[in-house]
Amino acid sequence: MSESPHAVLKRIFGFSEFRPNQEGIVEALLENRDVFAVMPTGGGKSLCYQLPARMFDGLCVVVSPLISLMKDQVDAAKANGLDAEFLNSSLVASERRRVFLALENHQLDLLYVSPERFAMPDFIATLKQSEISFFAIDEAHCISEWGHDFRPDYLSLAHIATHFPKAGIAAFTATATQQVQDDIVRKLGLRKPYLIRASFDRPNLFYQVAPKENLNRQFLHFLRDRPDDSGIIYRTTRKSVAATAEFLQGQGIKALPYHAGLPDADRKNHQEQFNRDEANVIVATIAFGMGIDKSNVRFVLHGDLPKNVEGYYQETGRAGRDGEPAHCCLYFSQGDTVKIRYFIDQMEDPREQKIALGQLNHMVKIAQANVCRRKGILGYFGEPYPKADCGACDVCTGEVERTDATEDAQKIMSAIYRTGGKFGAVHIADIVAGADTQRIRQFHHDKLKTYGAGSDRDKRHWRRIIDDLLSQDCLVQSDDQYPVLQLAEKGMFVLKGGQPFEVLRQKESKKAKQAAVSMGEYSDGLFAELRIERKRIAAEAGVPPFVVFSDRTLREMARYFPCTEATMRMVSGVGETKLERFGESFLAVVRAYKETHPDEAKEMSVLHVPVELPRPKKKKPKGATYLETLEFVKQGMTIEQIAAERSLSPGTISQHIEKLLDEGEPLDIDQFITPRKRIETEELFNRLNADTLGAVVEASNGSVTYEQARLVRAFMQRS
Ligand code: ADP
Ligand code: ZN
Repeated sequence: MSESPHAVLKRIFGFSEFRPNQEGIVEALLENRDVFAVMPTGGGKSLCYQLPARMFDGLCVVVSPLISLMKDQVDAAKANGLDAEFLNSSLVASERRRVFLALENHQLDLLYVSPERFAMPDFIATLKQSEISFFAIDEAHCISEWGHDFRPDYLSLAHIATHFPKAGIAAFTATATQQVQDDIVRKLGLRKPYLIRASFDRPNLFYQVAPKENLNRQFLHFLRDRPDDSGIIYRTTRKSVAATAEFLQGQGIKALPYHAGLPDADRKNHQEQFNRDEANVIVATIAFGMGIDKSNVRFVLHGDLPKNVEGYYQETGRAGRDGEPAHCCLYFSQGDTVKIRYFIDQMEDPREQKIALGQLNHMVKIAQANVCRRKGILGYFGEPYPKADCGACDVCTGEVERTDATEDAQKIMSAIYRTGGKFGAVHIADIVAGADTQRIRQFHHDKLKTYGAGSDRDKRHWRRIIDDLLSQDCLVQSDDQYPVLQLAEKGMFVLKGGQPFEVLRQKESKKAKQAAVSMGEYSDGLFAELRIERKRIAAEAGVPPFVVFSDRTLREMARYFPCTEATMRMVSGVGETKLERFGESFLAVVRAYKETHPDEAKEMSVLHVPVELPRPKKKKPKGATYLETLEFVKQGMTIEQIAAERSLSPGTISQHIEKLLDEGEPLDIDQFITPRKRIETEELFNRLNADTLGAVVEASNGSVTYEQARLVRAFMQRS
């Protein structure tokens, strides 16, 4: 073993640096030590065993529970020039014989097997004929009954240490509590293992929470900005998966559904199309999970609230495994919380019920609290986050605004205080909004000082303030059948004016920014051509495109324009085998592109000297969005039609029109509202002598919408 691990990293895998913890694990294995590593998805686990497997003369046996993934993993290892094979029930007899022959002839670096094999005495005997350097056990938490994914098959792995006392054992998992960790170490019989608990932080993921409104339109809006990216949309029910997929297909998006109700063949086919970049979007229930190894998932959207943070973390974790920026957006509505609570209420076991409720509350808190989303997620796993600003979530980047709501909070809490903490959220909101209900009259709550103190806002507003107070621990809600609200210590403090209270509100019309890890500037045009070439080569070789080269690798090519073998070798992810196999094809693409686009290439061709390029895409001038709306207005379209056309909400379009009127654009109100409705609304404004929209909408008893009120007010102000 004359070459250093670092040199092998570059020569074989094409990477110039180890990711955190990889080097330590590799060295421990090279010293024949056992390893126990908790690494998040995308942490770069496979390299930890593939690299030493390549360096050792003997064989590395990889135990992996997912038959569906083995082929991709073997293909990926082969693409880097490793001698790898797999054994599982999907192989036909002739293939199986070929693998056993390679095994007998000591030709393999890596052999992937399913855990069931270890229950077969023949198999142990066969392995004993080979020289085994170490075992790598993937998803090691499956051996523990304490974990969430126990698989009885894994128990037979407990005998590895006794059958092969000289071979090392490396156990990997992405989820393990201390209890599960101890259990794994004991069951596998690891001998003073080298222990690694990697951080669960995924710095390349941008976390965002947006209010759930017209969900399908919101998805469409998001996707229109990323026509070439791959991503997953999670929905809770099969019905909603089908509906969303159908809607998106109708809009010309290559989206496919995935849920447990589909025939096996369809599910497999849809997953494969997604893997091969033939479909951009998978709309799925959480049944779509374990089997995804695709490294270039660029976004994960949640249309419904996940039941717990663990699920949310795992699902979002499928994005950006290649380390490139990826976007995670959760569309959140309080209604989802209510739905999940309803299901929790139906649970029979009170202990389970309590656990589920606690988990749900944590999830809601992350969606609502006034703190960095990343900090909230890591906090759930007991990991402190040291920075004040993560730079890659909507809270830290100011996509959402913090506004002071101390006065509103005091109104709510005063109502709770004055009624003795004996009432639920609906009634408290009614008191503050000054509603006339039977219950209010019955308890004489219309005589309270706080009654109607917030009549200028609607009940929805007050329900939101209550939710905010709950998520920021100012209130506690009893977990009875009819939950009541009570003041917590922190709430008391706010009520007495000892501390301000801030809430998060989405800023209008501002697009979420990129994650903190920047992709750097690169040529969009060349990147697109390289992707086409990758797809062609992948199809020819019968492997998914990301096995050929990752997105990151293509992006580097599109940034540095490597035109010779020597410069191509410097691109991250280009090792000697891939260079030999695919180098010429990609070099040809780069050279051809350079010929036709000499200007772009000149500025970028110096490898590893990043040059700032003007962004190829023109930025729209500020305000253009109003002007775009104006174009449609001129075509005589209604607000609803424009909203649908532009994938924006009618509310936003009415704001555009308000703005256009403000700027003196000569528009005709009759295009947007019937004369009768206009007069009715004008009268309300005059009668109430108000200019807040909420007051008019409320006073109209639902007959005037916010959009209509906004328009009429704008026209009234103009004249
Ligand atoms: P995990 O199994 O931990 O989820 P993988 O082993 O699939 O992660 O690795 C995720 C991605 O990271 C792969 O595309 C892999 O090629 C890439 N990768 C691994 N190690 C490095 C490294 N040192 N430098 C750059 N990329 C790496
Ligand atoms: Zn943050």
